[in-house]
Amino acid sequence: MLGLMQSQELLISSLIDFAERHHGDAEIVSRRVEGDLHRTTYKDVARRSRQVANALDRLDLAFSDRVATLAWNGYRHLELYFGVSGTGRVLHTLNPRLHPDQVVWIANHAEDQVLCFDLSFLPIIKAVHARCTTIKHYIALCDADALPADTGIPGLQSYEAWMGAQPSTYTWPSFDENSASSMCYTSGTTGNPKAALYSHRSTMLHAFAVALPDSLSLSARECIMPVVPMFHVNAWGLPYAAAMTGAKMVFPGPAMDGKSIYELIEAEGVLCAAGVPTIWQMMLTHMEANGLRFNTLKRTVIGGSACPPAMISTFNEKYGVEVIHAWGMTEMSPLGTSCILKSKHLAMSAQEQMKVRLKQGRGIFGVDMKIVDAEGKELPWDGKAYGDLLVKGPWIISDYFKGEGGSPLVDGWFPTGDVATIDPDGYMQITDRSKDVIKSGGEWISSIDVENIAMAHPAVAMAACIGMKHPKWDERPIVAVVKKPGAEVTREELIAFYEGKTAKWQIPDDVVFVDAIPLGATGKMMKTRLRDVLKDYKLPSA
Ligand code: ADP
Repeated sequence: MLGLMQSQELLISSLIDFAERHHGDAEIVSRRVEGDLHRTTYKDVARRSRQVANALDRLDLAFSDRVATLAWNGYRHLELYFGVSGTGRVLHTLNPRLHPDQVVWIANHAEDQVLCFDLSFLPIIKAVHARCTTIKHYIALCDADALPADTGIPGLQSYEAWMGAQPSTYTWPSFDENSASSMCYTSGTTGNPKAALYSHRSTMLHAFAVALPDSLSLSARECIMPVVPMFHVNAWGLPYAAAMTGAKMVFPGPAMDGKSIYELIEAEGVLCAAGVPTIWQMMLTHMEANGLRFNTLKRTVIGGSACPPAMISTFNEKYGVEVIHAWGMTEMSPLGTSCILKSKHLAMSAQEQMKVRLKQGRGIFGVDMKIVDAEGKELPWDGKAYGDLLVKGPWIISDYFKGEGGSPLVDGWFPTGDVATIDPDGYMQITDRSKDVIKSGGEWISSIDVENIAMAHPAVAMAACIGMKHPKWDERPIVAVVKKPGAEVTREELIAFYEGKTAKWQIPDDVVFVDAIPLGATGKMMKTRLRDVLKDYKLPSA
C-alpha cells in the first residue's frame, strides 16, 4: 500500500519561490567588484532569477546543458544559482583560482555552453576563450555601460543588458528531482580534476540538513556570511539553506582580506560566518594588530581543513564566538559532520569541552559513517581505533561525471581518503588525509596533531607538517613554519615547545622556516607543492 500524500518533486526553484513569498524583504548584501556595497532582497533576487531563466531559454540551450560561472560571492551569482538550475540547466561553478590551463580543461570536459564571469576574471577569459571549444556565450556580470570594449571575446554581453531585457514572469518547469542541478570539480590535488554532479533532490535534502540546529542552524533571525566561495561546493550549500529559511545573507565579493571581512561583519551585523581556517587566520591577525572586538558575531563555522585548537580558543575565549568545526568534501555536497556539544558536555570543564570541540563532529542525519582497517574490517567507535573513513547517504556521490576514474564506491560506501577515529558519542575526528599521514617505525603520526601544536606557539602564523624519508624509521615528520610578522622563534625553541605536549617519537625532527606555505585553489595547504619546495632538504638525523 502506498502512502496517500502528494507527490511533488524536490526542486531548487521552489526555494527562491518560497523565499520571495515568505521572506521577500530579507536582505542580500554584496560587496561588488565595482567596489560598492549593494543591497537587495529575496523578492528582487527571485524576480531577477526569473529574468535569467527567460534569458537562458532564449539561448536555445537543451535541458541539462551546463552554464558555467567564474564569479565571487554576490547577488548576481545567487540569481544564477536559482535561474540556471531552476530551468533544468546545470550550474557549473568554475574555480577562478585554478591555473588557466586547468580552467580550459575543466570547461571543455564539462562541455560548458555559457560562461558568466565577474570582470575581475576578464584576464583569465581573454587568456582561455579561444581554447574553450564548447562555450558559445560569454556574459560579463556587470552593467551595460561597464562592459569593456575590444576584449576580443566573441559576442560578449553584459549581464544586466542580457537578462534585464527579459520579462520577470516565468513558470518554473517541473521535472524529475533526480535531474542534475549543479556541478563542481574537485581541486585535483592528484590527477585530473573530477566532477561531482549534484541533483535537485540531493541539494534540497542537503539544504534541510545544513539548516538544522545541530548543523549550521539557519533561521529567519540569522544573518549569515558565506566567506567560503560560491565556486567551492556551492558555498557549503548556504545559498540554498538561507533561501529555505529566509536568513539574511552577506556576501564579501572579491574583498577576501582580513580587514574587509571584519569590517563587513561589523557593518552588517553578521551573526554567523563560514569559511576555511586560512581566512579566519587573516582576520584574527588583523583584529589582534588593531585591538578590535566583535559586536554581533556569535558563531563561525570552520571547515575545509582542520581548525587549529589555538584558533578555536582565540575565538571562544578572547572574542566570545562559538566555533563550529565542520567536515565534508566536494563529493559530499559537502556537509558530513558538525561539532556541536551535547547537553551532557555542558557541565564539563572548558578543557574537557575543548577536547570535544577539536573533533570534526557528529554525523548529521543523512550521512552514515564507518571506519575500517586495511582489510576493510569495521573498527569500533571507541575514540581510539583509527582507520579509513567511509560514508554513504543521499547527498554523497555515486559516480563522477562521465564515469571518470571508474566507480568510486566500495560495497556502496564512498571512501573519503581521510583517516579518522569515532568516539562512543559519534564524534568523528580526522587524524589525517591518508596521503599525508606520516609512517614512522610502523606507527602513524598525524600531521594535523604536529601542526596544531606548532600553531599554538604565539610566534607561529602557519605550520605544515610533512613526512621525510628516513633510512631507519621509514619517514620522520618535519614542520615548515611561517612566523607571524615581527615575531621571533628559533628551531630549538619550537622543538622544545613540543615537550610534554605529545609523545617523544611524534615530535618533529626539524623545523624549517619558510616565507609562505603554498595554498591550493580552495585555500588549503598544498603539501605536494611544499614537498617540491623542500625537495633538496635532508633530515638532520638521516
Ligand atoms: P579537495 O578534495 O578537492 O581538496 P574538498 O574541499 O572536497 O576538496 O576537500 C575535502 C577534504 O578536506 C576532506 O576529505 C578532508 O581531508 C579535508 N577537510 C575538510 N574539512 C575538514 C576539517 N574540518 N578538518 C580536517 N580536514 C578537513
